[in-house]
Amino acid sequence: MQITAKTSVYCLIGHPVGHSLSPLVHNQAFKATGHQGVYVAFDTADHAGSAAAIRALGIKGASVTIPHKVNIMAHLDEIDGHARQIGAVNTILHSGGKLHGYNTDGYGGQKAIEEKTSIAGKKVLIIGAGGAARALGFSFKNRGADVCIANRTYEKARFLAQDLGAVSVSLDEISDRNFDILVNTTPVGMHPATDAVPVPESVLTPGMYVMDIIYNPVRTKLLQKAEAAGCHVIDGVGMFVFQGAAQFSLWTGIEAPVAQMRRVVYEYLNNLDK
Ligand code: NAP
Repeated sequence: MQITAKTSVYCLIGHPVGHSLSPLVHNQAFKATGHQGVYVAFDTADHAGSAAAIRALGIKGASVTIPHKVNIMAHLDEIDGHARQIGAVNTILHSGGKLHGYNTDGYGGQKAIEEKTSIAGKKVLIIGAGGAARALGFSFKNRGADVCIANRTYEKARFLAQDLGAVSVSLDEISDRNFDILVNTTPVGMHPATDAVPVPESVLTPGMYVMDIIYNPVRTKLLQKAEAAGCHVIDGVGMFVFQGAAQFSLWTGIEAPVAQMRRVVYEYLNNLDK
């Protein structure tokens, strides 16, 4: 696509950003829809300066990643209720002279699961109590799930469960309970330590849905073990693509080309393995 004086600019702000797949998916989405946009990644430690730059340069929208998801909020004009609930923003829409903050992470994970099974009324175990667990926890609760949090540092699981109106359990006890859906939100099993598994095999029961939000590798050791135990598995690409698709729709007002966005991510990740 040709870049002209009318091309809208979108960006990622974070540090580091060198491994981000967001430029790949968003530029693919612009290409597939013909939307006159370009998406670039800015590696920056300056969240206040980034917000000022978005205003000054007329950047139409931004993705926000670590370490700015919380501290950027003070520099925005309006924050959507769900992002406020989570306490973090991963998306900025610059519209009507204002910066609006949203969080699409939880929605991304919810959509990835709902492609395979419903969430309402299900017993969902979230492993981890960090930023991703928090975003997913609120989305699952809002969807009517019965959420349980387990985390290496039990106190953090307890705090998150309290905020969610959910329950917490120690990692040692998860095998004693039954769950319909298990979601790993820890980096355990991520490249390069791909042999690690965040839960004992005894928790993986036939018919359970297991999602790993890690997407490098696509097929984590947890998903391999879950499949062998008769579980349905969901890899981390779905969550990543759907959170990006929601950003794209917020920015452009048009439906995101999810299939093309997903294809470009799989192509990239599968080539990494070679
Ligand atoms: P975070 O806020 O740093 O939280 C990390 C969580 O993992 C904490 O609960 C931490 O437990 C736990 N943890 C870390 N290392 C561990 C270990 N060795 N053993 C057991 N638990 C461990 O990180 P985050 O932002 O939530 O992201 C977590 C992961 O999700 C990352 O791998 C990230 O790449 C991935 N992610 C994927 C998507 C997607 O779209 N697919 C989106 C967001 C994030 P403690 O409290 O004990 O430290």
